[in-house]
Amino acid sequence: MDQSFILREPYFLPISLNGVEGFCIDDRYSTNRPYLKFPGGITFFANQIAITKTINNQQTLSYQNETSKIAKQLLSKGYHIGIHSDDDSDDSLNINKKIKNDPIGCGYLSKRQDIMNLIGRTEISMTNQIKNILPEIYIKLTDKMLINKIVLANSQLAKNPTYFDATPRQVAQAAVKEKAPVMIVEGQHSNQAIAIINFKPNSTFNTALAAKNNLPAYNYDAWAFDELLIRIPALSKYDHQEMILSALIDTIATVNLFGVNNIYVRY
Ligand SMILES: [Zn+2]
Repeated sequence: MDQSFILREPYFLPISLNGVEGFCIDDRYSTNRPYLKFPGGITFFANQIAITKTINNQQTLSYQNETSKIAKQLLSKGYHIGIHSDDDSDDSLNINKKIKNDPIGCGYLSKRQDIMNLIGRTEISMTNQIKNILPEIYIKLTDKMLINKIVLANSQLAKNPTYFDATPRQVAQAAVKEKAPVMIVEGQHSNQAIAIINFKPNSTFNTALAAKNNLPAYNYDAWAFDELLIRIPALSKYDHQEMILSALIDTIATVNLFGVNNIYVRY
């Protein structure tokens, strides 16, 4: 086991799926409150729905409208999954404030088409990354072609003007309008960051403390996403294997685009 992964293990802490907030996997310092981590926060859920619909030749709503819809569902069931800005563009994602050039802190949102295009360009390497990083998942995959289908769906969706009919900020604000929680991350991304896919139930990474102690990581709480697929009817109506794999591919490509290739899985 790699040392950089072992050194981060003490920063994992217990957390419940109930009653806590959820935000991005961002490696930067934010809040000391414990929170669940999904790339892009609430917009991650919207994006996997859109990919799954695309695989199955269903019409997807715009990214903004998929975000509103799933935010409403999750928030009404008590899952406070939100969105973040950063201290460079700090305005707390105020939906009434007009900002020049429409900046937004989260790379997950602002580089969405780049991430999808990256997935589209890397079919072979994506299959290899799944095999290498997640061999258990690869072996269990009933449809090995599913990776290719998800790759293709990302290419298609990246070019879909109906999906991208709003700015990244407007997508974030759609969640804020539904009363999704907001947080602000501080400082710069670290080139020392690793990525962790965390499957250990009821645990999350203490991003703030780890960042402070120079052991930054992008941590995705895959266990929580997978559990919400079961709990939330608006998510469980989609094929679980498609949603889970789409989420993993999206996470890997997102951190790849941020320059992170050291990805570890925690069971
Ligand atoms: Zn983010």
